[in-house]
Amino acid sequence: MFGTKSFRQQFPIFQHHPNLVYLDSAATTQKPKMVIDGITNFYQKENANIHRGIYDLAAQTTQKYESVRQKVAEFIGAKHQSEIVYTSGTTASINLVAHSFLLPRLEQGDEVLVSAMEHHANLIPWQMACKQKGAHLRVIPIDQAGNIDLAAYKKMLSAKVKMVAVVHISNTLATINPIEAMIEMAHQKGIPILIDGAQSTAHSPIDVASLDCDFFTFSGHKIFGPTGIGVLYGKATHLAAMSPYQFGGDMIRTVTYQDATYAPAPQKFEAGTTNIAGVIGLGHAIDFLQQFDKKAIALFVKELGAYAREKLLSLNDLTIIGNAQHKTGIVSFVLNNVHPHDVATFLGTANIAIRAGHHCTQPLMDFYEIPATSRASFSIYNNRAEIDFLVDEIKGIQSFFAV
Ligand code: PMP
Repeated sequence: MFGTKSFRQQFPIFQHHPNLVYLDSAATTQKPKMVIDGITNFYQKENANIHRGIYDLAAQTTQKYESVRQKVAEFIGAKHQSEIVYTSGTTASINLVAHSFLLPRLEQGDEVLVSAMEHHANLIPWQMACKQKGAHLRVIPIDQAGNIDLAAYKKMLSAKVKMVAVVHISNTLATINPIEAMIEMAHQKGIPILIDGAQSTAHSPIDVASLDCDFFTFSGHKIFGPTGIGVLYGKATHLAAMSPYQFGGDMIRTVTYQDATYAPAPQKFEAGTTNIAGVIGLGHAIDFLQQFDKKAIALFVKELGAYAREKLLSLNDLTIIGNAQHKTGIVSFVLNNVHPHDVATFLGTANIAIRAGHHCTQPLMDFYEIPATSRASFSIYNNRAEIDFLVDEIKGIQSFFAV
């Protein structure tokens, strides 16, 4: 049923662009009608600010906003809804942890570990914290195929390490990292670990309680929800110990001209009027996803990726970047003598939407000694016919540039 014509009808974008071959879901997913309608419905029938109003509309909206928190908690297996902080996205979630959790604990000479395949969002916040404190950011190596070197990681976990931050699924390489083992290894040394789940939450079953990670982050727009909303999961003990990152309305307990006391987590991290419609939309996105078996989604997307790889590998003068043992439905590739931007431009004229560039992983491009890749990424509305079309068009590009 995924990828079929009738399934695609749930996504209005394909009615407005009947010929669109959308292969850029790692950048953002398309939105199902029920999410779009849910947001429209909220603004048309339910709009009010939360937490402050006493009238019915405000009380109902507050109740709905908070019920989504419980929904998120269940969706990712958090023990308690107070461990769910609404943010504007993965980037904001990671910045919050770097600022409020790590910085106060970090001292000169300490170390923070990230992997060689991190998105800039899970690299620069730690880099900045290390620079401020005279600490060192160390990079867990990967092999040429894109597998994390677990033996090297184990050796790097010294008493100097104050934090590990690692991506669950690489947006560039498609690698599914062995986060269970990485979390366990960090914890054996008493080191907290954050998992960047931006690419995994849409199509991997996530259970933060059994994973036992300290923090987990994801973005609404990559799980069929709206932009501008995301989640930070943090263990209750960590969130309780962390100071707020932003200050203002809705995050306080008491305020005088001289001083303020703060609300408990998660409210102390949600200053000001938050993205209420975004939260409502996120709730609908989770309802949408919960209709399906997460394992079935993961398998479908993985199989599309494997099919695309197989077909692309049959072409000459094409190299796939990212050949890890465990991977999902993302394929990065480079063509000999054709720049990825030219590939994306040509494919764009055939209504095929792919991404070309460094994918916010510039150091990873340096590792592979390439400036950029073309990247096709798949989701539940894609199908094999679209991949066949992609491959045919790539053949066309190759013959055009061969002339
Ligand atoms: N991490 C990964 C692996 C990503 O793919 C992305 C988005 N491309 C991010 C972090 C950042 O997510 P956002 O832009 O939604 O904050």
